[in-house]
Amino acid sequence: MSYDYDDQNIFAKILRGEIPNDTVLETEHSLAFRDIQPHAPVHVLVIPKGAYVSFDHFAAEADPVEIVDFTRALGRICQTENVCPVDGHEGYRLLSNAGPAANQEVPHMHMHLVGGHSLGAILPRGG
Ligand code: AMP
Repeated sequence: MSYDYDDQNIFAKILRGEIPNDTVLETEHSLAFRDIQPHAPVHVLVIPKGAYVSFDHFAAEADPVEIVDFTRALGRICQTENVCPVDGHEGYRLLSNAGPAANQEVPHMHMHLVGGHSLGAILPRGG
């Protein structure tokens, strides 16, 4: 399987510092920033710094160090955004769109972390 990465995508430009972002956390291998069009009170995008188009690409080809860094960064943000379902907080949802079936807009692997209010059903039914 071979993956094509377009380095002109908007998250690649954010990583190169060509466009601004509202950073939540930066680690050696990952960057987290607020979504520009939030769907919930908490809506953070977490991306690896490496050139991966989708979660499956990242999972298959990233170095384990990058995967651990990404996973720990994501977990830390759940804590700092106060959405972990402990101490009275309501919980969160993680979601990663990949490809046209999921309407992936930006072809750089990203995980949406949403929370801060009741999120409803995972997907609309029907169709
Ligand atoms: P997806 O459909 O999963 O590819 O979602 C891409 C997300 O990136 C959308 O929720 C957009 O609102 C968000 N987005 C696009 N451009 C930016 C940007 N410059 N800064 C922050 N979020 C962005």
